[in-house]
Amino acid sequence: MQTKDAPWWPCHESSLSIHSLDRDTKSKRHMLRSLKIVLLRLLRGGGIFEFVANSRWRQQRLLILCYHGTSLEDEHLWRPELYITLQTLRERFVFLKENRYAVLPLGEALDHLRARTLPARSVVLTFDDGTYDFYRQAHPLLTEFGYPATVYLTTYYALCERPVFNLISSYMLWHRRGELIPDGRKIGLQGPLDLRTESGRHQVVRNLIDSTEREHMTGLQKDDLASRVADFLGIDYAALKAKRVLQIMNAKEVEEIARNGTDIQLHTHRHRLPEDETLFSREIRENRALILKLTAAKVPAVHFCYPGGVYRPSFLPGLRSEQVVSATTCDTGLCTSNSQSLLLPRFVDNQMRAQLEFESWAAGVGDLLAVRRAAAQKYVPRD
Ligand SMILES: [Zn+2]
Repeated sequence: MQTKDAPWWPCHESSLSIHSLDRDTKSKRHMLRSLKIVLLRLLRGGGIFEFVANSRWRQQRLLILCYHGTSLEDEHLWRPELYITLQTLRERFVFLKENRYAVLPLGEALDHLRARTLPARSVVLTFDDGTYDFYRQAHPLLTEFGYPATVYLTTYYALCERPVFNLISSYMLWHRRGELIPDGRKIGLQGPLDLRTESGRHQVVRNLIDSTEREHMTGLQKDDLASRVADFLGIDYAALKAKRVLQIMNAKEVEEIARNGTDIQLHTHRHRLPEDETLFSREIRENRALILKLTAAKVPAVHFCYPGGVYRPSFLPGLRSEQVVSATTCDTGLCTSNSQSLLLPRFVDNQMRAQLEFESWAAGVGDLLAVRRAAAQKYVPRD
């Protein structure tokens, strides 16, 4: 686990953040959101959701839902854009079941999309990264409902079996939010650590990452640093590790969910997609080879999800030459038969989404009303 191989792990949570907005803009956004909820309530009450859900227009479209983690503890309070509670996920599944949505495997749904043979109300469930909480919570729920799902697995931390350094650092600092620590030298940082705002905590994480890069830390050394940060903050790191918070599923868990029918697909080995052609190919190839080995699959993975939802036009030829047949983004929208296969939009569901908003997207009304569709391409703290 050399530093040059260690993942930077760009943050997914960027996609729905309210980017460094001033108070006026935030309040306008809040007002618009409240108005939107009122409008959706009226439309649902007036039978428009059902009308659109039953339409030929919706039948020609595919909703790919994107999830990340289900909270083992309080992760949805730390990153509501990234996490959802198991209870909320259950409510989504109950809605899909009671309203006769056709939840399809990803590959099958994409074939139907191209052939224009999708069943009515078609939906695909995807989970990015492959965190342990999928094995522990989402997978049993999927089994209970009989729903197929795709996990886009990043493989470095599946072998490393340690908490993802950047995320666990951010999570631990959030647990000390509100504090202004006068001196960070004990964890190798200069000056005071301002944990009172998301921006302040993000800067501390950034400085910690810089220090791991400067010192060419291995994965294990980074885990030692995370342990020292925990001690410094008065957090029980051993207990956090034992709970498997912010860890990727290990080899045994991946093998088990794959054996039970979960589709495991590509998300790069180190959760990054470099511009350099050789490194780009290596990310796909190492990821694919490990997935093949871990899952004992008969065919190599060909579906891909951009780490952090970050994509560039220059990535597309590289994906094609690696025989990737589909790629999903964090951009918002329903897929049509005309959608670019390597830039498929999804609906990122999380704890911030109201049930009504989720229902509007299942029906297709959400897509008709969508204003902002492009996901942010980098993480920006919310304050
Ligand atoms: Zn990811």
